[in-house]
Amino acid sequence: MTDLKVDVTDLKKNYGSNHVLKGINFKVKNNEVVVLIGPSGSGKSTLLRCLNKLEEPTSGSIIIDGHDISDPKTDIDKARENIGMVFQHFNLFNNLTVGENITLAPVELGKLEKEQAEFVAKNLLETVGLADKYDAMPASLSGGQKQRVAIARALAMKPDIMLFDEPTSALDPEMVGDVLEVMKELAKDGMTMVVVTHEMGFAKEVADRVVFMADGHVMEEGTPEEVFDNPQNERTKAFLDKVI
Ligand code: ADP
Ligand code: MG
Repeated sequence: MTDLKVDVTDLKKNYGSNHVLKGINFKVKNNEVVVLIGPSGSGKSTLLRCLNKLEEPTSGSIIIDGHDISDPKTDIDKARENIGMVFQHFNLFNNLTVGENITLAPVELGKLEKEQAEFVAKNLLETVGLADKYDAMPASLSGGQKQRVAIARALAMKPDIMLFDEPTSALDPEMVGDVLEVMKELAKDGMTMVVVTHEMGFAKEVADRVVFMADGHVMEEGTPEEVFDNPQNERTKAFLDKVI
């Protein structure tokens, strides 16, 4: 057994002649929180999307929990059930209530009975500070509330890794804190997490490791102290000068 949750080796992804990922090596241990930073267009979202096969890699290997997800024998739907994903724009079903948004996947995929799923959904809403929103429609919620519902929805599948792609980038500044707080709690509870974010305060406080990507390469990685206080790569320095 390995304690690696994610083991990506020499991952390449091309869109036509656009070489977006140029040989990424990326590992995440169980219970580790990795914050992925880098300029816009560097391939961060593409890397996350390859991890749950929302994108098909051009080459390289991606092993999640010991399963090679490019192996046709791997049940990709099963693998995906264990990977929670939270997007910048929430992607809630706007025609369903908050409760229905959360219970839909676990019930449809046979993971929980309807009543169990409702119980789980209510508990999760309490965890994210939205106990009173079970019957609300998404349109009645603020961006920060929607994002916390999206996190609860992902958690309802009991994933063992959570991927966050700029979860607070679309939020008004006063909403950001509540969402980051929920993510901090998750990290404290031992969730394995990969977080793409520009929230450097969160990275410093919560990340076990910071990975800096540019131009489709991992340029530098280390503890938050190493990367933020003593960056070695010129690209990292230039990037941090701009964002901090
Ligand atoms: P980041 O998340 O770091 O901003 P992305 O992974 O979104 O970067 O994008 C990296 C590059 O890949 C960009 O040049 C973008 O235009 C390109 N790209 C991303 N998704 C697609 C797609 N579905 N089709 C074509 N090109 C894409
Ligand atoms: Mg992106």
